[in-house]
Amino acid sequence: MRGLKRPTRPSGALPTRQLDPGAEGTVDLERRRDQLTARVAELQWDLGGLVYEMAIRDRIRLDVIVKRAAALQEADAELAEVERILKIEQTATAGECASCKAPHSSGAVYCWQCGQPLLEQVDPDSIAAPQPIAPPAG
Ligand SMILES: [Zn+2]
Repeated sequence: MRGLKRPTRPSGALPTRQLDPGAEGTVDLERRRDQLTARVAELQWDLGGLVYEMAIRDRIRLDVIVKRAAALQEADAELAEVERILKIEQTATAGECASCKAPHSSGAVYCWQCGQPLLEQVDPDSIAAPQPIAPPAG
């Protein structure tokens, strides 16, 4: 087998899975996206290396490949979902915080950055304004 070179790994250690299930907010989602991007790249690399190892030994074990591919597909799907949510959050920005100028989405009640309430204080009088009652005709 001349010309075939074993690929070298781009980085030493495998990335540890540190996905926080209780992640909240755009900042955590972006961090999660970065983690998933790294994981997908790592899994792709591993899968390629695995197939290579099998190929040079002429022993392709399809079940092992399928199992690895499923893990890759899972991470890839999660990455797509995170990117979708991030896109929604970015496009659904309703305004910016009055005190720190951080953008917030339309449903946000408090600023994710400084914690200030985002809903404007409504004058109670304008809500409970009594409707003028028309005097009975006659
Ligand atoms: Zn703020």
